[in-house]
Amino acid sequence: MIAPRTNAPRETAGSRPPHRRGLNHIARRVVMSAAVAAFCGLALWSERGMQHRQALAQTLQAADSLKWYRGNIHTHSLWSDGDDYPEMIAVWYKEHGYDFLCFTDHNILPTIERWTEPAKNKGGQLAYDKLKQRFPEDWIDERTVDGRVEVRLKTFAEISQKLAEPDKFLLIQGEEITDRFKNLPVHINASNVRELVTPRGGESVYQVMQQNVDAVVAQRERTGQPMLVHLNHPNFGYAVTAEDLMRVRGENFFEVYNGHPSVHNSGDAQHASAERMWDIILTRRISELDMPLMFGLATDDGHEYHNIPSRASEPGRGWIMVLAQNLAPQSLISALEAGRFYASSGVALEKVTSSSEGLEVKVAAEPDVTYTIEFIGTRKGYDDSSQPVTDNKGDEIWTSRKYSNELGTVLSSVKAAGAKYEFQGDELYVRARITSSRQHPNPSEPGEFERAWVQPLRGPGATTESPGDR
Ligand SMILES: [Zn+2]
Ligand SMILES: [Zn+2]
Repeated sequence: MIAPRTNAPRETAGSRPPHRRGLNHIARRVVMSAAVAAFCGLALWSERGMQHRQALAQTLQAADSLKWYRGNIHTHSLWSDGDDYPEMIAVWYKEHGYDFLCFTDHNILPTIERWTEPAKNKGGQLAYDKLKQRFPEDWIDERTVDGRVEVRLKTFAEISQKLAEPDKFLLIQGEEITDRFKNLPVHINASNVRELVTPRGGESVYQVMQQNVDAVVAQRERTGQPMLVHLNHPNFGYAVTAEDLMRVRGENFFEVYNGHPSVHNSGDAQHASAERMWDIILTRRISELDMPLMFGLATDDGHEYHNIPSRASEPGRGWIMVLAQNLAPQSLISALEAGRFYASSGVALEKVTSSSEGLEVKVAAEPDVTYTIEFIGTRKGYDDSSQPVTDNKGDEIWTSRKYSNELGTVLSSVKAAGAKYEFQGDELYVRARITSSRQHPNPSEPGEFERAWVQPLRGPGATTESPGDR
């Protein structure tokens, strides 16, 4: 699907985004607290080329007080356009090796009284029969109105009380803030949100993103409750460009992998993949914008739960592994903000070490599976020219610009279950992507291999360009 052109402001060739100005106080405080958390006493000073620099030094590995927690933070149920009852979805995740799940229905929180008709809702009689089979009669609230059977959707609090178990399974309240600019969908997830965020709208895709992110950040500040905000499926409707997303203050997470089969994770001939967008954003945030790193998430965005596997939008395709002190929203969100996690569509990691020397990855290797570890980054002095993408009539297409291959280049590639990348001295950042020799059993896009994505680490080339957010 190619989105038509809009009146949103675009960058022209060779132009630079506006200098930071009018930075929202609240956004800045959140950014700074994330940066402070990231260092948490582990900052190192090292000397290279007579310049001092700080680098994040940390080892991600399960230890006495730290555990890997597996979770999905993008989920739909009958509260919006999913086809199953939320408690049944929670059971699915609980029984498939997940530690936490965040419900994110469209523009609604599961906190109110709502009745649904099994004969007419998206799940139909099948979903209702399964619910009745799994849960005892005294769990289900059924009534008959004018001869029609209705069932009450359980609230988040009821479901959490029934199914959550300390340090075993956590449910998190969330919302998919579902907004748009003209015909371009802009969807933003708020995890651990307390109050409903109504879509804020705006005069451009960029402004719609910024105003919704600001609303979540403001709620977080006002309530003191930790919340995570992330940009969903940038290539859904090819709505979000790298140039717009990179400028959104307070938006430091996005979906590099979304399990829904209609979101174009890989892009196409004209549209950059989500992963390509990640490299464009990282490069320009570090070299020009003086903004924090963008972190990459994998999520399911499941809507359909009754015929797995199929080509519908289903659970189990992409998740995050978070290294945290305990299974609680506060602990998980602070770990995410400190970059103590990786995204996965099937590959498990044993250890990730980042330091002033470089980045090291060790896969939790499985028998008869081989792995390719790629270290990806951009070197200082990269060719920063870019061009708009045009159609065959020469008209500009609404999409991320085309950049040189020096952005997000593969710095090294190793076929092994473990590898280390040592900084050469000019890298702005490095991240790692691990690809398995095993095909994804139920992929977002046909032909995918299982993967893991390690979060980016600033390199020595990022030294003095970004004093504001180190
Ligand atoms: Zn969405
Ligand atoms: Zn969704």
